[in-house]
Amino acid sequence: MNAPFARPAGAAPAQPAAPRALADAVEKVRQAVVDAFAGDGALAGAVPGFRERASQREMALAVFEAVVQRSTLAAEAGTGTGKTMAYLVPVLLAGGKVLISAGTKTLQDQIFDKDLPAVCRALGVRVETAILKGRQNYVCRLRLERTQDSGMLGSLDEVRALQHVVRFARVSTSGDRAELAEVPEGAAIWPAVTSTRDNCLGTECAHFENCFVVRARRRALAADVVVVNHHLLMADMALREETDSELLPNADVVIVDEAHHLTRIAADFFGQGWSLQQMTELGADVLRIGLQAARDGAPWPELVRAMETAARAVRLALSESGVPLRARAAYERLARSAAVPLAIAALGQSLGALQAALQQNQGREAELDLLVPRIERLRALMAPWERAAAPAGADVPLPEVVQWVSTSAHGAQFHATPLSCAEAFARAREERQQAWILTSATLTTQQRFDPFLLELGLTDATALRWDSPFDFARQALLYLPTPMPNPQSEDFAELVAEAAWPVVQASRGRAFILCSTLRAVARVSARLRELMRESGDVLPLLVQGDASRRSMLEEFRRQGNAVLVGSVSFWEGIDVRGDALSVVVIDKLPFAPPDDPIVAARIRQLQAQGRNAFRDFQLPHAVTLLRQGVGRLIRDDSDRGILMILDERLLSRSYGKTILASLPPFARTRSQAEACAFLAVAAAAG
Ligand code: SF4
Repeated sequence: MNAPFARPAGAAPAQPAAPRALADAVEKVRQAVVDAFAGDGALAGAVPGFRERASQREMALAVFEAVVQRSTLAAEAGTGTGKTMAYLVPVLLAGGKVLISAGTKTLQDQIFDKDLPAVCRALGVRVETAILKGRQNYVCRLRLERTQDSGMLGSLDEVRALQHVVRFARVSTSGDRAELAEVPEGAAIWPAVTSTRDNCLGTECAHFENCFVVRARRRALAADVVVVNHHLLMADMALREETDSELLPNADVVIVDEAHHLTRIAADFFGQGWSLQQMTELGADVLRIGLQAARDGAPWPELVRAMETAARAVRLALSESGVPLRARAAYERLARSAAVPLAIAALGQSLGALQAALQQNQGREAELDLLVPRIERLRALMAPWERAAAPAGADVPLPEVVQWVSTSAHGAQFHATPLSCAEAFARAREERQQAWILTSATLTTQQRFDPFLLELGLTDATALRWDSPFDFARQALLYLPTPMPNPQSEDFAELVAEAAWPVVQASRGRAFILCSTLRAVARVSARLRELMRESGDVLPLLVQGDASRRSMLEEFRRQGNAVLVGSVSFWEGIDVRGDALSVVVIDKLPFAPPDDPIVAARIRQLQAQGRNAFRDFQLPHAVTLLRQGVGRLIRDDSDRGILMILDERLLSRSYGKTILASLPPFARTRSQAEACAFLAVAAAAG
C-alpha cells in the first residue's frame, strides 16, 4: 500500500531535506480525509445511509494526527458517530501497515466482511486485507487426520461432528471453524481437530505448506490491513514479552475498537493458568500417539489412567474445600488447608511419571516428542499451586498476582491474574513505535478518561470524546418508577417483572430486560410468564439459555413483539435498529460482586496504595457496563424508546449522580403514565 509519509516501524526518522515535501504530503492527505466526509464526498456517494457529521470528521482528523505523530489516541465516540469509518478513512488514506483489533469475533467479521471493503470501494483505495484469528479457530489437518485414524471418539455426536469437519477441511479455503455451522462452537470434537502452541509440529508437519493456520498467517504478513481480535492482539503482546517471538506482523498503526474490553483481556493474557481440561486433552493425546507410535514403549493406558485419577482427586478436593459448582474462588483461602495443594502435587507427580515414559521413547515420533515440553510447561505452571498458603492474618506482602480457581461440572481452571497490566502494556507499546488508536462508545466515567488510561498505563495518550449525535432528550425517556423496588429485598426479581410489565405491555413487547445475574433472569422471566397468563396478554418471551444468543436475537427481530430477558452477555455488542426494540429495562446497577477474587484483590491493592477503590475501579467499571446496556436502545436517528432502571441507589446514593451524569442526556420521568404516553406518541409517529 502506498505510504506517502508513514515511515516503516523502527525505521530512521525522515532526512532533514524532506520536511517540506513531507509536510505537503501530510497536508494533502489531511485534506483528502476532510473531503471524504463532506456531504458530497466519497463516502456520501458510496455508503448507503451516510450522513455528514462533524463529530465523525473531527474524530477522523484526530486519528490522522495520531498516525502522523505515531502517538496514542483514546477516542470515545458515542453511538451513531460512525467511529469505524472515522478510523478506517484516515488510516487507509495515510498508508502503511495497519492492524485493527475488534473486541469480539462478531465485530471482527463485520469489519472484515463489510466495513473495510465498503470504505475501500468508496475511497477507491486498493489494499491487501486479511483476517486472522487465534490458531484454535482453524482446523488442524494433522490432528484431524490422527483423530480419524485413531477411532477413539467417545460418542455418536462426536463421530458425526468429525465427518462434518472432514468434509469441511476438504473444500474450505480458510479452515475457519466459524464457517462450519453444523458443528457448534462448544462441540467436544474441536480440541481434537484444532491445534495449540503446544501440540503443533510447525515446520516438521507434513501438512505445513497446506496448513490453514500457516496460510492465514502468511496472508496476514503480506497484507496491508489485518483484522484481528483482542485475544490475538494480547496473545501477541504477551508472547513478545515472554519469548521475543511474535504472532502478528509489525504494523505502523494499531487500532483497538471496543477498547473498553482491553483491560480484562490483557489481564488474562499477561497472566498464566492451567486447567483440568488440559489434563484430559493431554491424556487423550498421549493415548492416541503412544499407542500409534510406541505401543511397546510404556504402559500408556495405565499411566494416563493414573493421571486422570489424580486430576479427578483435585476436582474432589476443591468440592470438599467448599468451592461450589460454577464459582470463582480465591486460592489463598483454599491453600491454607493442605488438601488442594496436596492433590495438585500428586497430579504433578503423575505427570512426572508420564514425562519419564515419554522421555524413554524420545526420537520415535515427532508428535510423541512434543508431549515432553508440553508436560514440562504444565508442571512449571502447576508448581506454585502445590504450596500451602500462609495462615490467615500472617504478615505477608500483597501479591502482584491473584491466584484464583473457577469450577465447572467436572473441571476446574487455575488462574494467576496480574492485578495491573499497565506496566507490561506500556512496555509493549514502547518497544514498537506505532500509532495506537483506542476507541469505544464507553471509555469514560462522567466524561473523565483517567480510570481507563491508568489501568492501561496510557499516561502519554491524547484523550478526546464526541457525544452521540442522537437527540436523546427527544428520542428517549429515562423512566425511574416510584417507588423503586429495594435491590436487597428477597422478592426483588419478581418486583422488577411487576414494575416492567405495564411498560412492556404498552410497547407491545419490543423489550429487553437486562438482569445482573442468571438467577435473576430465571426469576424475572418466570414472574413475567405468570403476569402474561394472568392478564391474558401473552407476548413471545425469549429467555437466555433457551437457545443460542444469535438465534434468540434473530427470533427477537423476526417476532417484532417479543420480550427478551438476558444477563450480562446481552448488555453489549447487540444492534437492534428500528421498531423491534423500544424498551430496555435494567434491574440493578452492574457493580461487580466485591467477593469475586479479582475484584476483591484489586480493591485491597488500591486501598493499600491509598486510593479510593470504589471511585477509581468499581464505579468506572459499573458505569461502562451500564452505558453499554443503555446503548442498546437508540441505534439510529429515527429510534425512539424508554430506558427503565429499577435500582433505587441511582437516586438515594451520592454516586448515583455520577452515574446519571455519565448517561446520555435523556428526558426523565418517574410517572408510569408518562412513560406509557411516550410510547404511544412514538408508536403513532412511527
Ligand atoms: S502445522 Fe501445526 S496447525 Fe498446521 S496442520 Fe501441522 S500440526 Fe496442524
